[in-house]
Amino acid sequence: MIIFGTRAAHIKSVLSKQAVCPNCNEKGSIIISVFRKHAHIFWIPMFPVGKRGISQCQNCKNVLSTKEMPDSIRNEYIKLKEENKGPLWQFSGLALFAILISWAFYQSGENEKLEQQYLASPKSGDVYEYKIEGGFYSTLKVIEVNNDSLLVVPNDYEIDKMSKLYKIDKDENYSEEFSFKIAKKEIETMYYSGEIFDINR
Ligand SMILES: [Zn+2]
Repeated sequence: MIIFGTRAAHIKSVLSKQAVCPNCNEKGSIIISVFRKHAHIFWIPMFPVGKRGISQCQNCKNVLSTKEMPDSIRNEYIKLKEENKGPLWQFSGLALFAILISWAFYQSGENEKLEQQYLASPKSGDVYEYKIEGGFYSTLKVIEVNNDSLLVVPNDYEIDKMSKLYKIDKDENYSEEFSFKIAKKEIETMYYSGEIFDINR
């Protein structure tokens, strides 16, 4: 199964009026063709990787690569190659990639806006994900919101992977008898210092 590789797309062919075939000496029988190669992944064109050319004599069928072309034919090939850029679809993969990246940036911006909103007006049920010294992570759950402070419950568990916090974020892991008051200002300080790195609502 071919996952990636290169393929060539035909760009243009012209019949040269001037070229003389080096094989059969016929004039005006040479067709010059330009191809552009592109890298593909699962047949999705990613980006172009350069042009190739060949010529073929209609009279004797002799085929020449660009290296084998006499100067007169090669010069016509170079002109043809420069005049014909090649199709935009050969950039599809790059375009898709650019869209995905901008979408990810947009999403992370939106996420940050939401978090700031959650931080500014906390609600009961909000969960703060935070770092503990020594490479561990845990969560705090808000159970009551007051003027300047919050009543929070710490999670009974810690975990060593940030991305696995959802596994311990379960109702039964918050024991209300361990709840404590914390100033909103302190939560803000923890958030802006990166100690609290995510807020889930
Ligand atoms: Zn020929």
